[in-house]
Parts: sequence; C-alpha cells; structure tokens
Amino acid sequence: MIKLNRKIARLKPSATLAADARAKELRAAGIDVISLDAGEPDFDTPERIKAAARKALAEGHTKYTAVSGIPELKNAIRSKLKRDNQLDYDANEIIVSAGCKQAEANVINSLFDDGDEVIIPTPAWVSFSAMVELSGAQVKYVPCPESTGFLLDPEALKRAITPHTRGIMLNSPSNPTGTVYHTGQLTELARILLETDLWVMSDDVYEHISYDGPVPHLFHIEPQLRGKGIVFNSLSKTYAMTGWRVGFAAGPKEVIGAAGRLQSQNSGNPNSVAQFAAIEALTGPQDEVKKMAEEFRARRELVVERIRKIPGFRLPNVPSGAFYAFPNVSELFGLSAAGRKLTDGDSVAAFLLEEAKVSTVGGNDFNAPDHIRLSYATSREKLTTAFDRIEQAVKKLGK
Ligand code: GLU
Repeated sequence: MIKLNRKIARLKPSATLAADARAKELRAAGIDVISLDAGEPDFDTPERIKAAARKALAEGHTKYTAVSGIPELKNAIRSKLKRDNQLDYDANEIIVSAGCKQAEANVINSLFDDGDEVIIPTPAWVSFSAMVELSGAQVKYVPCPESTGFLLDPEALKRAITPHTRGIMLNSPSNPTGTVYHTGQLTELARILLETDLWVMSDDVYEHISYDGPVPHLFHIEPQLRGKGIVFNSLSKTYAMTGWRVGFAAGPKEVIGAAGRLQSQNSGNPNSVAQFAAIEALTGPQDEVKKMAEEFRARRELVVERIRKIPGFRLPNVPSGAFYAFPNVSELFGLSAAGRKLTDGDSVAAFLLEEAKVSTVGGNDFNAPDHIRLSYATSREKLTTAFDRIEQAVKKLGK
C-alpha cells in the first residue's frame, strides 16, 4: 500500500463537491438527475463581467500577476468592503486567491499550529473542519441546536474557550442552515470575543443573498475586533462566478502577508483574466445582484412550502439568507425501501438519489446527521419536479 501523508490519508473529499460530481457522472451516463447539491447559482455570469474578461484576453493579460492579486483588483475589493460592510482596509491587508476556499485555507494554515484549537459552531460548511485539521489544529465543535435557531449561544461560546483556543469561524448567512445573525446577537458575541485573543474569521460569501435586509458585519459592529479579525468573501455566489475562482481575504497585514507567502509557494497568482473580470464585477452596476437575490427569495418560498408537505421532513427554520434549506429528516430513520434502511442524513440523501434521482447533500459532514441540505440555486421548474419526485420516493418507504 502506498504510504500517504498522515493528514491526507484520512482526508475525505468535500461532501458537497462529491455529491455534485456524482450527479454529473450520472447525467453523463444518461440518467436524468436533478442537482440540489452544490451551492452553485444556475444563472449565467452577467454579460458585463464576461465582456471584461474578453477585453483582458484581447489586451494580453495572460501572464503571471502579483501573487496576491493585481493592485486594481485590490482597490476594487477595498471599495467593496467600504461600500457593503463599512470596513476600511489597505491594499497590503488584502489577498486575492483562486476562490474563497483557497484564501481560507491559506489564512488558516498561516495562523494555526499543532495543539491549537479552533471553534466551529455547527452545523457548519463541510470544508471548515478539514481546513483546520490540515493546519494541525484541532476543531472544537460547538453545537448550535435547532432550538436556538442554529445560532451560537454566547454562553456555549464562553464554555468552549480554553487556554488552547486560538480562533473561531463564523458564517452568516450560514451554509447550510441559512441562519443570519442580527446586530444584537453579534454584539453579544463580540462582547465575549473582545475579552479573548481569538482570531475571529468571518465567512461572508452569502452576504448578498439575504431575505430580511442587509446582513450586519461583526467587525463593523465592534471595530476593535478588526485587529484580530479576518474577512473572507468570494465572487462565486454574488455574481454567479463559481467557475472563475476568485475569492479574497482581508485582515492584519502580517497574517495576509503570511498567507501571500504560502500562496507564492503552493500555487501563485489567481487566474489573470478572472481578476480583470472580478474588477468589473465589483465596481460595475450591481443591479443583477439584487435581481438574483429576488429570484432566490421566490425559490425559497416554493421550497419551504414543498418541504413542509413531505411526510418525515421537518423544517426547523425558514432560511433568512443563502440558498439552502436544511430539513430534519430523522423521522424517516428506521424506514426502508428496496432493502435500503435509512439511518442518517447521508443515507436519506443516498436514497433520494437512487429513488428520486434528486441529488442532495447528507447532513453528516455538516455535523448534523439528522438533516439533509437542499440547494435551491436552481430553477423553480426544476425545483418543482425535484419535489414531486421526492414526494413519490418517500411514499415508497415502509417499516
Ligand atoms: N460552497 C458550496 C457548497 O457548499 C460550493 C461547493 C463547495 O466548495 O463546498 O455547496
């Protein structure tokens, strides 16, 4: 057997991307699978952004760029952070990476070490824990139960902090629950965090997909946290640019500089053409962002209504942001169909793929095995067919 690096040997593939890949394989084999798996807007990238990419190509922007991003894009990001989040950053406090994931991995690897602990409130996006573990640090999960609306209880946060705790990852709107922290809740968390020396990481990738008004930012509410805070964001969801791979981090220059050194060794600059497209995305007219968010709202209504009618599915919260529904499906556990017994969220997702030809993501890797995640970043027509199929499949379940 080939001996792999210890950490890589036990690394699982991303559950969201694995589900997406499986659905693509089945479609390539001629099976009509509807994907409610990866969080990928079905909209095309707006034309003005594509035009900027074509122009960059025509102008020959096809060479290496500055490793942590071209100055024009850093300026665009500075303006975006000011405009949308009322946060001021200098250019040397910003790194652009090949997607927000890479920015997060580089910062996490730069900050944490063996023996450190990093708090992840759960349910949480599948890759946060993998990134922390790869850095050598240990993940300290803090469960945020349905009864608290999946929100981090300040007392639970206090209890989780030990002398080894060095960071916390927050994500509002949340993937997978759609929960959004409001100002009062962030103020309370800030009060506790201020008394610690934890690095506070804020993943804001769903900030513009919010159904109850603008999403407040922790570092705007408590500017003192900015000195030990890292903002992460992406163009993927806001501008329907998942394949372009542009994301960024902003934070103290020592941390961003370290992440830049790591990036210079393990990958280099983010794609040159995509960086020019990103400038247009961030600085051009923002109308399409609102339009997409409105469509997500209509889809949310449809999804919530349909989920509530499926026996065995219980929706603990109406998502206030992002484009995921996260029903509790534990009432189905113990039932079976065609010899397959449902035991957890992953088995329900596998059953739905098999029986309904609908691809979802089981909750296990979100640290919520009673749930499945359904992405509604797809058309209302497809969503309607998907739920018709799910309803039919669930009827086949018996003792
Ligand atoms: N973040 C999205 C999701 O959760 C895209 C896939 C991924 O990188 O996880 O589905």
